[in-house]
Amino acid sequence: MTYLYSALALLLLALVLFFISGRQRRQAGLPGGRVIYTDTQGWGKVEKPLYDADLGLTGKPDYLVEREGRIIPIEVKSGRTPEAPYDSHIYQLAAYCLLVESAYGKRPPYGILHYPNRDFAVDYTPELEAALLDLLADLRRDEHRRAVARSHEERRRCLGCGYRDVCDQRLF
Ligand code: SF4
Repeated sequence: MTYLYSALALLLLALVLFFISGRQRRQAGLPGGRVIYTDTQGWGKVEKPLYDADLGLTGKPDYLVEREGRIIPIEVKSGRTPEAPYDSHIYQLAAYCLLVESAYGKRPPYGILHYPNRDFAVDYTPELEAALLDLLADLRRDEHRRAVARSHEERRRCLGCGYRDVCDQRLF
């Protein structure tokens, strides 16, 4: 049962990465992220996943760094550096901010997305938290439906998707 619960939580976090549209972002007014300089000194590798029992959510940011008494999650992304962080990355980082607050009792004011050529600080605002909670609620609702429509028209996303072998909505 514990295994199933953990698997469900992991699945939820994985789904966050796939079922997010630009429309949701505009509706939610997600912060776009601001370019910052970060010194990788002091970044601590996260050994164990963080877990929020109330939400049944678990996840492991790549690093945590302590700044002025706050714990900041850092997610490292490979590949092309975008002009602005991708929505899916923003939601993933927001989930880590939520998990950090749950685990350490301190709310991170922001998280960091580390792309190959640029770093962005994304403010963990109450609006972003609310958008994340809405999204998780949507995912839980969809989890019990037998058919969920694809939320995008991007072949590339399907090509890189781990569910493509079992997904009847894939675009190739
Ligand atoms: S294969 Fe495409 S449509 Fe199916 S889950 Fe993956 S990204 Fe979504």
